[in-house]
Amino acid sequence: MTDKATPRLGAMIVPVTLFQQNCTLLWNEDSKHAVVVDPGGDVPQIEAAIAQAGVTVGEIWLTHGHIDHVGGAADLRDALKVPIVGPHIADKFLLDNVVASGANFGMTGVRNFAPDRWLEEGDTVTLDDAVFGILHCPGHSPGSVVYVNGPLRFALVGDVLFNGSVGRTDLPGGSHATLISSITTKLLPLGDEVQFICGHGPGSTIGHERQSNPFLTGAA
Ligand SMILES: [Zn+2]
Ligand SMILES: [Zn+2]
Repeated sequence: MTDKATPRLGAMIVPVTLFQQNCTLLWNEDSKHAVVVDPGGDVPQIEAAIAQAGVTVGEIWLTHGHIDHVGGAADLRDALKVPIVGPHIADKFLLDNVVASGANFGMTGVRNFAPDRWLEEGDTVTLDDAVFGILHCPGHSPGSVVYVNGPLRFALVGDVLFNGSVGRTDLPGGSHATLISSITTKLLPLGDEVQFICGHGPGSTIGHERQSNPFLTGAA
């Protein structure tokens, strides 16, 4: 018997683009319904992962508007005929400039787009009976959002927080003070046991970062 409050989720990370961004395929183990988080590019690899996992994608979720997270979103939306959800509308200026941003990194074939749904603090999104609450966590980008599933003690944090680091804040709309405030007021209170997948590199737990991340312990 499956506890309805704690659905079983599977996850597969597909590193995409020259930035090795962690595009994440997340699915319900029972229904095989899935979402794709941050399809930054290399859409054929993402489609291969979907086929390998044997899942059916219902939505594309975006954590923020940077090219390495959204470069493949419009193509994947067309291919799968599913809606794009997120990020917060404060990142609209980034989604309006995907083509120009891609050109800076030799990424061709990308398109500007608008999501089908913007997200705000307190919104929820669902993968079957797995409910993810939305935290608006500006600083790395103005419209960065974090997806949190309470019962599973699991979060998708994008480029807000990394294993041993935090998101860069030298890009348009970035603010280091705002980022640290987002982390300390919204992510650390989630609890030490919460595990997260981040946009680059290995994931971690809130507790590990609270205790050892130099940007949070005052060492940096
Ligand atoms: Zn980013
Ligand atoms: Zn990134």
